[in-house]
Amino acid sequence: MNTLTVELGERSYPIVLGDMRECAAMLAEKLSGRSALIVTDENVEQAGHLERLQQALAENDFTDFHALILPPGEEHKNLVTVEQIARTAVSAGLNRRSVMVALSGGVVGDMTGFASAVYMRGIEFIQLPTTLLAAVDSSVGGKTGADLPEGKNLIGAFHQPQLVALDMAVLATLPECEWRNGLAEVVKYGMIMDEKFLSLLEKNTGKLNSFDPDFYCGIIRRCCECKAEVVAGDECEKGRRAILNYGHTVGHAVEKLSNFTLPHGQAVAIGMAAAARLAVKMNMLNAAVEERQNQLLKALKLPTLLPQASNINSIIQTMHSDKKNSNNSITMVLPTAAGAVEVVRNIDEKLLAAALEELLQP
Ligand code: ADP
Ligand code: ZN
Repeated sequence: MNTLTVELGERSYPIVLGDMRECAAMLAEKLSGRSALIVTDENVEQAGHLERLQQALAENDFTDFHALILPPGEEHKNLVTVEQIARTAVSAGLNRRSVMVALSGGVVGDMTGFASAVYMRGIEFIQLPTTLLAAVDSSVGGKTGADLPEGKNLIGAFHQPQLVALDMAVLATLPECEWRNGLAEVVKYGMIMDEKFLSLLEKNTGKLNSFDPDFYCGIIRRCCECKAEVVAGDECEKGRRAILNYGHTVGHAVEKLSNFTLPHGQAVAIGMAAAARLAVKMNMLNAAVEERQNQLLKALKLPTLLPQASNINSIIQTMHSDKKNSNNSITMVLPTAAGAVEVVRNIDEKLLAAALEELLQP
């Protein structure tokens, strides 16, 4: 079993990478003497993971759990579903000592985390990520929430889980487009903080593209270490944690302008290409590093150009409405070298437009 810790003082918690038996044993230990609500979605349930978890928990003599199976998809990531989770918790008899467990990707994980942050003013919560994206990103770090009609993740709370446990076998049923989505965030960690990791990815695109489970176990571990380190230093994003938004400023804008038909990972890949292009134009980054990043993204079948018929003005306008941009100015995370980034405020919008122009499809 492979364990690391997110160091947050008394809110520290372990991340465990193992198999279902190991995860269930850890989980049963945490849950012992308490009741639990496991929240999952229909696809995860249909892939057999809920049943495997329930069996493994029963083998560890833990049976005081209820399950809620939600419809999949971001369109259900709203307060109505959060209320459904909370009301199911009431009818299942969950009390202040009870625990909510998310067996899911980021969508259900974010909502279950939020429900646990506010249910009876806050109960404990455990993440069992089932997507690559959730494993390397959303399950670690304590950001929870739901969308409003006005925008994504506009309601939420910081609420750290007690445990993150990944059964590597759950990833085997993940559709290809979903794991490619997660790969953009994997490349992101290399670019923002770890040049060695970046070169490991470059040398192993074959294993990445065949979704080799042993290789992925090491990759996921390194991503979690990176995220844990950043979160430990800045839990509530007052400073350095913002580097995790690399690729996400332009990324969120193109995602939104596509009405969320563009998968998040593809949007982030485009966002990283845009940030690197701008950094080169600002003489902050050597073009060879931009080339390295983009070659890697392309080798992983991720896009580096804007979607067909993109409108640069609309992208910049949408960036202004991002909740992370204040005072009418745009802030972006820009690379300065392979494995290093800087948060840059008051981005020159003419230069940004010129950089985006170069990413238009011919
Ligand atoms: P993310 O983690 O990327 O934010 P979601 O929670 O929306 O995303 O999950 C992406 C999609 O993959 C959803 O349709 C979800 O039901 C499905 N899914 C999640 N985990 C698995 C899995 N292990 N096997 C098969 N499908 C899965
Ligand atoms: Zn992301």
